[in-house]
Amino acid sequence: MKSVLSNIAEVRRTLPDDVTLVCVTKYHSLEETEAVYDAGERDFAESRLQEMLQKKEALPADIRWHFIGHLQTNKVRQLVPFVYLIQSVDSVHLLECISKEAVRCGRTVNVLLELHVAQEETKTGFSVSDVDTLRQVIAAPPQGVAVRGLMAMASHTDDESRIRQDFRTVATLFKTLFPGGGILSMGMSDDYQMAIREGANMVRIGSRLFE
Ligand SMILES: *Cc1c(COP(=O)(O)O)cnc(C)c1O
Repeated sequence: MKSVLSNIAEVRRTLPDDVTLVCVTKYHSLEETEAVYDAGERDFAESRLQEMLQKKEALPADIRWHFIGHLQTNKVRQLVPFVYLIQSVDSVHLLECISKEAVRCGRTVNVLLELHVAQEETKTGFSVSDVDTLRQVIAAPPQGVAVRGLMAMASHTDDESRIRQDFRTVATLFKTLFPGGGILSMGMSDDYQMAIREGANMVRIGSRLFE
């Protein structure tokens, strides 16, 4: 697992101190995920609940688990007791389900609202035109949830100007919605440096760690 160690060191070298690295371990084995832990990382992200639960059982308790996939409401109950940050809240309905479970568990769950800016129609999330809804939810979140910021993915394209434009759109909205600051989670293996230049303070990196 030497490559995981050197890949992480390489990524860390390119990250400013105030940017949080979230290691995306989805589809990678327990052994590979453990190598990321042994390299000193503590923020891990998965996009499927079953995979997250299996890894959580087997790995140390000080890992901060981030959920980044589409979350079905019937999975919320299992996630809420331990999750550190749900980054992929893509509807008010889901937020209300999280609230209900959070109240039941007596905890406050940190969430990010997922913004859809990419050109692909398959990606989920709120759109820029939902700004009034977003504003309302941030001003008066349901009980038991704390809305910490935004998460987004850029278009899947080689066109750098398009990617930059997507990040700018998100960053602009973020500044309006969170004037006092918050978490802006954007940037993945291929575009995280650009995301940081456009204002991201959290990046989600997977494939680059394991290549
Ligand atoms: C898979 C995934 C990532 C990581 O992507 P890589 O290209 O492997 O770095 C980041 N964010 C989300 C939401 C993902 O699903």
